[in-house]
Amino acid sequence: MSGNQIWINEMIKEISDEIITKYERVSTPFRTVMIKMHYCYCCRSKRNDINYLAEDSFRGRFNLVGWLYCNDCAQFVNLANNYCFIDRNYIRYSEAKFLTKHNFNFWRISYTKDISPYLEKCFFDGSYNNLIYRKNNRIKVNIVWEEENDIYNKLINLSNLIYYNELFFKDDINKTEFKNLHKKWVKLINYEYDLVKQYKIIEKICKKNKLSNDIENIIKVFIDNIY
Ligand SMILES: [Zn+2]
Repeated sequence: MSGNQIWINEMIKEISDEIITKYERVSTPFRTVMIKMHYCYCCRSKRNDINYLAEDSFRGRFNLVGWLYCNDCAQFVNLANNYCFIDRNYIRYSEAKFLTKHNFNFWRISYTKDISPYLEKCFFDGSYNNLIYRKNNRIKVNIVWEEENDIYNKLINLSNLIYYNELFFKDDINKTEFKNLHKKWVKLINYEYDLVKQYKIIEKICKKNKLSNDIENIIKVFIDNIY
C-alpha cells in the first residue's frame, strides 16, 4: 500500500468510526429530564443550536422521551427516528392518529360474568397509551369507552373493530388510512381482516343451511377469536 492509500484508509476508518459512535449514542431516544443546557447529546459538545424531537409515541408525547441534538447531528437523529421503531411492539402515533377522529362500535365481553356481552361505543384516545400494539401475533387496539361518567380502556383485537365497523375499515387494509406501514404490521393487520372474512363465511353458510348458533359457535372455535 502506498503512503496515500494508508492515509486514505485511516481517514475513512476514522470518519466511519465517528459516524457509528454518533449514531449509537442517539439510536435509542431517552427521557429528556435533568438535562444539561446547551448540550448536544449526540456529538457531546456545548452548542447553542439545540433541537428537540419527541419520539412518535405515547411516551414521546407525554413522558418527554426523545432526542436533544444540534443542527450538525440532525441527520443521525433523523435516521434513528426512522429505524428505532423496527423492534417496537406498537405502531407510531402518527401512523394510527387518524383513528382518534372517529367513533366505533365493539363487542364488549366483560371480565365480570354477570354482564352479558353487548355492543358498546368506543373511541381512540392517545393520552392513555399507544393506539395499536402487537401481542402474541395479534393486533390489539387500545380503545376507550365511557360508562356512568367514568372512562375505561381496554386492549381488544383489531378484528373486533373491523367486524363491527365495516364502513370505516372496509374489507381490505389498502382501502383504509393505514399508510406506509412496515410490512410486518401489514401482514398482522391482514390476518385480522382474514379472520373477519372467515367469520362472515361461516355465518353465511350457517344461515343458508339453517344451522343453529351453537353449531356456528362450535365451527368458530376452530379459528382464532375475533373478539
Ligand atoms: Zn451535535
